[in-house]
Amino acid sequence: MLLLRNALILDGTGSPPYRGSMLVSQGRIVSIGDLPIPSDADQLDLHGMALSPGFIDLHSHSDLKVLENRREKSDQGITTEVVGNCGFSPYPCGSHAALLADQNEGILNGPTSWPGAAAYLAQARRDSRLVHIESLVGHGALRTAISGPDASSPEPLHLDSLEAALDTALSEGAIGLSTGLMYAPGSQAPFAELEALCHIVARHNKLYTTHMRSYSWQLIEALEEQIELARRTGCRLQISHLQAVGRDNWPKQQHALALIEQAHAEGIDIAFDCYPYLAGSTVLTQLLPQATLKDGLPGLLTLLRDPTTRARLEQTLQHETAQRWDDIFISSLTTPANRSLIGQHLQTIAEARRCSPPAAVIDLLLEESGKVNIVAFNQSESNLHALLTHPLSSIITDGFYVAERPHPRLAGAFPTFLGEFVRRRNCLSLAAAIHKITAAPASRLGLKDRGNLTPGSIADLTIFDPATIGTTATFESPSLPPHGVHLVIKGQFLLPKSSSLLDNRGILPSGSPLAHARVTHRTTPETPGELHYER
Ligand SMILES: [Zn+2]
Repeated sequence: MLLLRNALILDGTGSPPYRGSMLVSQGRIVSIGDLPIPSDADQLDLHGMALSPGFIDLHSHSDLKVLENRREKSDQGITTEVVGNCGFSPYPCGSHAALLADQNEGILNGPTSWPGAAAYLAQARRDSRLVHIESLVGHGALRTAISGPDASSPEPLHLDSLEAALDTALSEGAIGLSTGLMYAPGSQAPFAELEALCHIVARHNKLYTTHMRSYSWQLIEALEEQIELARRTGCRLQISHLQAVGRDNWPKQQHALALIEQAHAEGIDIAFDCYPYLAGSTVLTQLLPQATLKDGLPGLLTLLRDPTTRARLEQTLQHETAQRWDDIFISSLTTPANRSLIGQHLQTIAEARRCSPPAAVIDLLLEESGKVNIVAFNQSESNLHALLTHPLSSIITDGFYVAERPHPRLAGAFPTFLGEFVRRRNCLSLAAAIHKITAAPASRLGLKDRGNLTPGSIADLTIFDPATIGTTATFESPSLPPHGVHLVIKGQFLLPKSSSLLDNRGILPSGSPLAHARVTHRTTPETPGELHYER
């Protein structure tokens, strides 16, 4: 048993914080409040630090990286991560594993071989020591599993097989379905296909999350389509990373929020999420019509080499790109010759090359075999404020790994939210903010024993200092770790990072604010590096 005492308790509900203690045992919360000290419990005096449910990242792309036990998420206080977003999941593979890996390129990056949700979840949960894993099955992955190289053709798919594959994934433990309707092959799906799939999600009472067909010129039409899907099928709808992309489209966000509020008032189970940054991050091919990717990256390169097609695509890029060219930065590419372009925006690159920005985009794709990642400054401060403070929003990282400069949200989204937007700018109360990264996402996911601090719940806990939590990670140096997160407890384990609280042998260092606490640590052979608090 472990007594965490002298804590500022934020229970996840959004209620005001209060001082108290919490008793945990065998990885579960036993009691909470003004507790006596049991004689057989170890104690940790939190010296007034905040104690909240472990943070839940509703939207991540760490599907393959969670197997490597990377620290970016747990260092932020995250104890549960939901992968499989935006139509990308590393299963089901069937006979098209190589093709699936190719389609996931730029977002997931790595080989994949899991036949289904059960196999993936079994390995992810066995290998991932730092976070709990939940996975959505990706609609793009389902399409590829059923139709292979024809997944992006405009011909109708074998809808029966697609429905059966989704039903299997949900039965095997996938927590919902994600679509990525701006990415091939999901972008080819007609409404009727999505409607059939959402009926299945509704029958399983799981979550349907969507990266919609547009966040820029067609934001409103794209949102109306998703609301209509939920209205017709009764599925629980989560609009992923809501935003209005491009200056000309910024005014549309208010309309979008009004549509969401109306749908909610109508009784549709709808909510949305957002990350606390003005910039987004994706692959450079996102700027192109997704039909150009129907034969994968090799097919795209063939198209780009054809002078007539190239000229037409340059026109499309010039007229359709919602961001300004100096708002789009290169974050990763593969050839040594172009390394100096990382961190530069497309306007500068085009000027240096004495060509138009659309021509520079196409040249870069050809030089890099299509494998280029970008960071793009998409939205306005006032729009971001409206999203972060909206009662229907959850906050996410949307983090994914790229070789060179990942978006700083990967390592810093939640500390940025709590440090910059809660403490420094005072956009919302600390209790309301914690709700958006604990109980709110848990409720969207249907996780009953996480995201709250009620007795019986899993003792996933984040202990942080509200006065210092934050990060120095920037777009130039995105991998700097956050500060102010002092201890993360995942069930029975004190996670080893824990900065000022524990040294790398698991001992409380003498300078720690909690140095007088009496906790027994040991590293178990099954979980090397983890610190067990039960004796
Ligand atoms: Zn997305």
